[in-house]
Amino acid sequence: MDKEANPKQEPVDELEQRMRQWQEANPEATLTEIEEAVEAELAAVRKRLVEGLVAEREAVGEEEPDCPECGGRMVKNGRRERRLRGKEGQDIELDRQQWRCLWCGATLFPPG
Ligand SMILES: [Zn+2]
Repeated sequence: MDKEANPKQEPVDELEQRMRQWQEANPEATLTEIEEAVEAELAAVRKRLVEGLVAEREAVGEEEPDCPECGGRMVKNGRRERRLRGKEGQDIELDRQQWRCLWCGATLFPPG
């Protein structure tokens, strides 16, 4: 395996590197502390991956939706921070486009 052939850094490599640094900074850490540090790092990576994937999907779905209430035309109503709850209870923060119906005033976030 030639590391130089693949300079693109995978999230897992990055994680491993960060944990090595953490280990050097905390040479006396107990097993529990190491486990907690790894879990915290994993949670951060997972959050970043999920947010990145959802944001990518959002960018594709930026075309005008029809109002789910009356089928009317919707206009952009600014971006709103939306907090989703991940399946393990973690918060996922998203900056999403909100839409507002010109006819009935209903507001909508794209599905996802
Ligand atoms: Zn409507």
